[in-house]
Amino acid sequence: MPSRNVGGHSPFTQSAHHLFKIKIMQYENTFINMLLSLKDDKGDSFYKDADIFDFKSLPNGSPILQYTCFIYNNIFHKDERFRIEKENFELFLTDKGTVDAFACSQQQHKIIVINLGLLNVLEKGVKECCQNLDETIKEILAKDNKMSNAESLVFRFITFFVFFHELGHLIQYKNSSNEIGQKKEKYNLTNSNSYSELMHLMEIDADLFAAQNLANFIIHSWQQLPSELKSTLAIDTMIALGTASIFLLFFELNDRVWPDMYFFSFCHPHPTIRISYIVDLMNKHVANHFQSAESNHEPQLVKTFEMASALINTEEKNAFKGYQMQYSNSTNKIDRYIKTLSSTREKYKQLIQNYN
Ligand SMILES: [Zn+2]
Repeated sequence: MPSRNVGGHSPFTQSAHHLFKIKIMQYENTFINMLLSLKDDKGDSFYKDADIFDFKSLPNGSPILQYTCFIYNNIFHKDERFRIEKENFELFLTDKGTVDAFACSQQQHKIIVINLGLLNVLEKGVKECCQNLDETIKEILAKDNKMSNAESLVFRFITFFVFFHELGHLIQYKNSSNEIGQKKEKYNLTNSNSYSELMHLMEIDADLFAAQNLANFIIHSWQQLPSELKSTLAIDTMIALGTASIFLLFFELNDRVWPDMYFFSFCHPHPTIRISYIVDLMNKHVANHFQSAESNHEPQLVKTFEMASALINTEEKNAFKGYQMQYSNSTNKIDRYIKTLSSTREKYKQLIQNYN
């Protein structure tokens, strides 16, 4: 693994200080035009070509470069249903500070765009979470030479989630008949007229696809541990770290204000609903893997939230407590909302999950 904190810079963005602007020819014009065609509600472009961050020039071993390699290596799935052809795909990182990511499709061409603002914010959250880690867990993770430390593992959890969510959208676009599709992840809770059942279904569907992939990665990471360290505590902590990180992601996507509960409004489902389903699926997936599936998952879910809560600090902690409260006060309404959405799912063949 690379040495971390080189020169005192952050481990995740250490090369941002010697930014090279993109040599445009590295990307095909088709993909650049797609990036430049992303527009906000007012019709203004989100990006100009100077915003493109040239990650291809990062030094070997840089965590961001490793992440981009992971994305390129995982875009082509062995199952054709989930497959995006490598030659039809491009990834853009941009040096925009806004916490946001995009998936965009025009005919067979697909791009994923991730702002460095999103990676920077996650880095901060990851560091905080790791400070509060139980000493036993720190020891477990430190003993595993495949993960350099807890921070790097958690960074992978959350950035993989972001990637698989966007990949979920690309697969939805691939399987739909629409020629153009684009998804922006940042919430816009000022535009109250933008509810659409399709948009809500697509978000939940992409979340569950990502949660399943994240759960697989957690299981894989656990399997890499030496046998004496393969404890229930280790896997429970990994899920709790994933939960804490996903919470931080949604908190930032909402400009650090947890929204009041809503159901059939706005362009994204409420983050409380999204997190509940993500964490529930991760727990069930892991339980199934270890063949310890029980009919009632609630106790495990509560345990995960408690562990995650212990990892989160200060301002974020209050928001997390607020979320837990909102969840327990709205469980029945959330179930009804999901059932209503699911009943319309047959209309949307491009969705990839089979949730109920
Ligand atoms: Zn999305």
